[in-house]
Amino acid sequence: MLNVPSQSFPAPSSQQRVASGGRSKVPLKQGRSLMDWIRLTKSGKDLTGLKGRLIEVTEEELKKHNKKDDCWICIRGFVYNVSPYMEYHPGGEDELMRAAGSDGTDLFDQVHRWVNYESMLKECLVGRMAVKSAVPKGMLPKSQPTNPLAKESPVSPSYDWFQTDSLVTIVIYTKQKDINLDSVIVDYQDDSFRAETIIKDYSYLIYIGLSHEIQEDFSVQVVENVGKIEIVLKKTENTSWTCLGHPLENHNLLIPKKDTGLYYRKCQLISKEDVTHDTKLFCLMLPPSTHLQVPIGQHVYLKLTITGTEIVKPYTPVSNSLLSEFKEPVLPNNKYIYFLIKIYPAGLFTPELDHLQIGDFVSVSSPEGNFKISQFQELEDLFLLAAGTGFTPMVKILNYALTNIPTLRKVKLMFFNKTEDDIIWRSQLEKLAFKDKRFDIEFVLSAPTSEWNGKQGHISPALLSEFLKRSLDKSKVLICICGPMPFTEQGIRLLHDLNFSKDEIHSFTA
Ligand code: FAD
Ligand code: NAP
Repeated sequence: MLNVPSQSFPAPSSQQRVASGGRSKVPLKQGRSLMDWIRLTKSGKDLTGLKGRLIEVTEEELKKHNKKDDCWICIRGFVYNVSPYMEYHPGGEDELMRAAGSDGTDLFDQVHRWVNYESMLKECLVGRMAVKSAVPKGMLPKSQPTNPLAKESPVSPSYDWFQTDSLVTIVIYTKQKDINLDSVIVDYQDDSFRAETIIKDYSYLIYIGLSHEIQEDFSVQVVENVGKIEIVLKKTENTSWTCLGHPLENHNLLIPKKDTGLYYRKCQLISKEDVTHDTKLFCLMLPPSTHLQVPIGQHVYLKLTITGTEIVKPYTPVSNSLLSEFKEPVLPNNKYIYFLIKIYPAGLFTPELDHLQIGDFVSVSSPEGNFKISQFQELEDLFLLAAGTGFTPMVKILNYALTNIPTLRKVKLMFFNKTEDDIIWRSQLEKLAFKDKRFDIEFVLSAPTSEWNGKQGHISPALLSEFLKRSLDKSKVLICICGPMPFTEQGIRLLHDLNFSKDEIHSFTA
């Protein structure tokens, strides 16, 4: 439903023509870009027709507002008059109308849960849903989980705490075996302590307004075989605490991850390096009071305020290089997150990101994504199909696969770009292929110069059937694919035609 549109009508081959999930975007009229929408929301115009009043909306009332020129939609308990936004919605008016006069939360979550509609639609806020005794699913305000413990949910974790003169230790008993340091995200911001443990598709939250101050840094340890997480906080003063503090939203609850909002912390821009003519390597530093490791194959959302409106876009963290000895890790611990980001001169977000100075801040969300490391189990052949910045998830996958999968025989990357100048980390890739005989790289260019004597064209049956040769007849194979949505969709179709099963394909989409 709601989405972040491009600055103006996207180019024919632009990624913006198709949204995630394969839904087509519609051409927006001139003057209906996100920037134009932001300007309208700042103009002081009454966009709700309620002259700034907020009202309680009953279900009966909501149902009445179901026409294009009078369209109210409820998202997480809040009701918006989206009629003024209709023409600015990249998914089109019809898509918005699917939720007219009703609760659009599920529809919104299916399509783009991460879009910061609160900020984008704040001038369209009509009010809250009137709470009924039995509240229907999806009508709950954001603070309440819709389905705290579904049948299939994991056993609920529990926690405990203890203290010494100088330390407070919080112990989370997840009652799960496959917990590691990636599974827990800890933040201490504005006197609030938040530890989110990801257990399958669920999130268990410890969220407390602490009774006393603590120092910024803390340690996080995981005892993997028993699923125990220990977070050791340092007291600022050596006093005895009688309680940990007061519970905040969703504290001590296990809730489906899709029902949790994105949580952000401010990260500092440490460096920015040219990689190609339009792609840069950004290094961001997490605050000392954050523990966060982005799992392989997952992305985060970066948030910037552009002309007073919060804009959010997804990006996939990479390692700082493909070869550890190619470039010594300058920065020692897990406090740094690297991104390869292409700057689109006509784009909304990336030029703004590019204008940031070293030392400036960007908000970074907790990780999202459905890639599972278990997909690597017993893997023998790994094929990676990447187009443009669709290379980014492949970076950590390559690093991990070549060092951690003992059964691996072959890793092949087919990397689609327009020209040679667009190839990200070409020399690193070639060095890696030279160094590790299991790894092969094939570059395919869609707009090469006459000097190019490598492969040319777009993803095609001929290219794929030649490339995707198993090392053994029945070897266990995984194919990862990422790039512009139409590229990914076409690739998946071709892979099915070549008889690869669903389990053998992982496609990266938002
Ligand atoms: P937009 O405003 O969205 O514009 C994008 C395109 O539209 C550009 O091609 C722009 O030139 C074109 N356009 C805009 N206006 C016009 C016009 N008038 N005429 C013609 N064309 C026009 N990107 C990365 O670089 N690195 C990553 O690691 C990365 N990870 C991602 C992970 C996920 C899960 C997803 C879904 C996307 C990822 N992306 C990544 C893409 C990223 O999220 C953004 O879509 C991208 O950075 C463009 O954002 P923007 O706001 O600058 O551009
Ligand atoms: P690009 O340079 O425009 O394109 C890279 C290559 O893909 C070019 O050879 C291009 O050919 C080809 N291509 C484009 N559209 C195609 C199509 N419909 N069918 C076949 N080939 C096609 O790419 P980019 O600007 O870097 O964009 C990268 C995309 O990857 C973005 O859409 C981004 O959102 C996405 N991405 C997704 C994730 C994720 O996790 N989901 C992560 C990173 C990036 P032409 O010369 O014909 O254009």
